[in-house]
Amino acid sequence: MSLRLYNTLSGQVEELKPQPGKPLGMYACGPTVYDYGHIGNFRTFIHVDILRRFLKLEGVPLRHVMNITDVDDKIMAKAAAAGQSIGDYTAKYEAAFLEDLKALGIEQPEYLARATENISLMVGLVEKLVERGCAYRGENGSYYFRIASFPGYGKLSKKDLAGMEDGARVDVDEYDKDSARDFALWKAAKPDEFHWDTELGPGRPGWHIECSAMATAYLGETFDLHTGGEDLMFPHHENEIAQSESASGKTFARHWMHIRFLLVEGKKMSKSLGNFYTLRDLLLRGYKASAIRFLLTAVPYRNQLNFTFEGLTEATNAVERLRTFAQRMRTGEFPAGSDASILEATQRAGKNFIASLEDDLNTAEARAAIFELVRLANSSADRGELKQDNIAPILEVLAKFDQVFAVLEDHDDAVTRFALDWAAKENRLNEATPELVAGYSLSPEAIDKLVEERTQARKARNFAHADAIRKELAEKGILLEDSADGVRWHRK
Ligand code: AMP
Ligand code: ZN
Repeated sequence: MSLRLYNTLSGQVEELKPQPGKPLGMYACGPTVYDYGHIGNFRTFIHVDILRRFLKLEGVPLRHVMNITDVDDKIMAKAAAAGQSIGDYTAKYEAAFLEDLKALGIEQPEYLARATENISLMVGLVEKLVERGCAYRGENGSYYFRIASFPGYGKLSKKDLAGMEDGARVDVDEYDKDSARDFALWKAAKPDEFHWDTELGPGRPGWHIECSAMATAYLGETFDLHTGGEDLMFPHHENEIAQSESASGKTFARHWMHIRFLLVEGKKMSKSLGNFYTLRDLLLRGYKASAIRFLLTAVPYRNQLNFTFEGLTEATNAVERLRTFAQRMRTGEFPAGSDASILEATQRAGKNFIASLEDDLNTAEARAAIFELVRLANSSADRGELKQDNIAPILEVLAKFDQVFAVLEDHDDAVTRFALDWAAKENRLNEATPELVAGYSLSPEAIDKLVEERTQARKARNFAHADAIRKELAEKGILLEDSADGVRWHRK
């Protein structure tokens, strides 16, 4: 395996490989669990999943850690407004996040690390930084990292920090991305504010310190790869490097992967522009989880992806095309023997698929290799040239494709049903399309029964009844496909 991955730190595409005899250690910045995840968040998590699945396909053992930020300014404010403890407030959104990962076929990392369960690690790290002269206590009782003490500050984001003012401070978790300031490691509690009582005094950790403390605890002072969306490069990741390397005197992460932002209809996603979508919003509009996943990998992670509904419809059709092809390969009847040119094309597709992913995870090229095979094999089958012995190698390539892209196996029905149940519980069924609600009033078993009734009606030449059943199903968004091997139904 020779995966070449762009490294933000060096500015070059470099080989990513574990240290001899060790699993590849990777730390992925996870969600802040104050609300439902949006499709931009999931673009980042899906590309990390593509990397994860590809490494597994290539036989690389992994130790993948993701943090859950379950305390920060926003969470504190929202929990207080809801009159809830932060634990109760975040539990709902953490559970929703994990459900969304599952819905999108994103594998869970080996370790999930919650900030609130690792406070003592963070306190220890702040104390170490104070001892080393890299952190100080402000008059308000908060602790700050002195960025002037770390000459490497700016090496990841390549920011020119010439105008930096020693001692200028910032207290909030989210701040001006253009200026470098001493940042809070530990925030002293204001009166009546939720806090932990620690050696640093009553307070809570700043945002950046959790990733330094937990990455080191799970992966050691130096580890292989750190990932996140491009917005995290500065200041979050820059601050993680400053804290960790000041404490250990060693390189923190060797390799940094940043996923470019998702735009929606050409614009930054925001609630005020009305172009802000969570996964659940799209599911209730009748889009399938597989199509959403597939769309989010349409261009490689370092290119900007512009989400459009047209694109989502295309992705829906593309997944359907792949599934129909896989079904044809699995159940079709082909003459004995092997067609040499198809065998050769299959091997080429398999090679190109792997080579594209090895080339900085080029998902677009990897997908193109598979669609080329689908096109060739379909037309060869139409001409009667595709032979029995061509099938196994084709299915093998498809299996590899699906180990990484995870869209062929059809879980869409269960996911949409889950979203509808959730919407019903949350009193949000009005956000679902009427067709979807009608369609899901039928269970898969009930649909199977109606399909069987139609088949019997046709056998009995009662075409009026058969057509009425087809029409009833179509009105509920359920389409039937008659083939030599029987009737397949799928939701539109
Ligand atoms: P958050 O929950 O805001 O901490 O974000 C979780 C992850 O999603 C981080 O890695 C962010 O960088 C990433 N992210 C946020 N917005 C977008 C976006 N529009 N496109 C891609 N990734 C994003
Ligand atoms: Zn982080």
